[in-house]
Amino acid sequence: MEELEQWLMHVHRRPKLVIADDQPVNIRVLYELFRDTCDIFMATSGAQAIQVAQNELPDLILLDVVMDDLDGHEVCRRLKSDPLTRDTPIIFITSQDHEDDEVKALELGAVDFITKPINPVITRARVRTHLTLKLQGDRLRASALLDGLTGVANRRKFDEDLLADWRHCARENSPLSLILLDVDYFKRFNDHYGHQAGDACLKTIAKTLGKSLRRPYDKLARYGGEEFACLLPNTNVDGAKLVAQKMLDAVRALAIANRLSDVDEHVTLSAGVAAVLPSRELLTSAVLIKAADDALYEAKRAGRARFALAP
Ligand code: GH3
Ligand code: MG
Ligand code: MG
Repeated sequence: MEELEQWLMHVHRRPKLVIADDQPVNIRVLYELFRDTCDIFMATSGAQAIQVAQNELPDLILLDVVMDDLDGHEVCRRLKSDPLTRDTPIIFITSQDHEDDEVKALELGAVDFITKPINPVITRARVRTHLTLKLQGDRLRASALLDGLTGVANRRKFDEDLLADWRHCARENSPLSLILLDVDYFKRFNDHYGHQAGDACLKTIAKTLGKSLRRPYDKLARYGGEEFACLLPNTNVDGAKLVAQKMLDAVRALAIANRLSDVDEHVTLSAGVAAVLPSRELLTSAVLIKAADDALYEAKRAGRARFALAP
């Protein structure tokens, strides 16, 4: 157990484990094995196992094969056909030592199986292996969606978020706003202060922009080189204008020198603001990006260090 605990310190959160078995006495044994290291959710039927898995999105499921209502194989089949639980690893617990069962388990997409009566050492080792793999996979997936320099969401994540927010706002018949921000005269900044100073400047800007967002569903992403994008679900154009102005002010207040800028001696941003009701037919999310981009161009043309509104 000590070893497992040490390892868990590295992953910074307690893994979620579902134990599904129709015999409470079996659950008890497994519960005792993992209660110190995992958050445990119990299910005493197949139907309950599915429900708990969908609600909790656990890191691993220990699934008894023989249960009264739905057997483990059927539970596995259903979890694998739901996008929400498709990637949740499942370890089958079989009482019979039948090779057929093991083959079937693996064919259904289980990662492993354990035979009853349970050997604590083997069970702990297998659970640890599959939890490690799961959490490593999570970390990889998460880092693939983050921008390496600034730590905010990258373009790929922004595209995913835009689609999700678009659908959400269409369902709720509520407005979605987008702010595109671009650093003014950043090429001159790099030329004058060097690329490393440019990188540091982008990091500071990202941090500052992030602080300007208050609602839990507001999202900031690095859209391109020195461009950032900000998604504001359930926010109309007036709200978006306020946020945009706040962001421009916050970055200007940093007073980072940009001697060669034509607008100011300091680093400034220009922004394009667009808001739409995604529920209107024939509109797609591309329309929103185009509108914000056009507005950004307009802000640049009108003298920079300001935002402009899409028509
Ligand atoms: P404008 O006011 O019209 O936006 O002028 P600008 O110079 O900011 O725009 P332009 O598109 O001509 O140049 C953008 C510059 O941003 C060029 C590039 O060197 C710099 N840049 C883009 N990504 C990075 C980055 O990751 N790090 C650094 N240091 N600079 C970057
Ligand atoms: Mg640019
Ligand atoms: Mg620029």
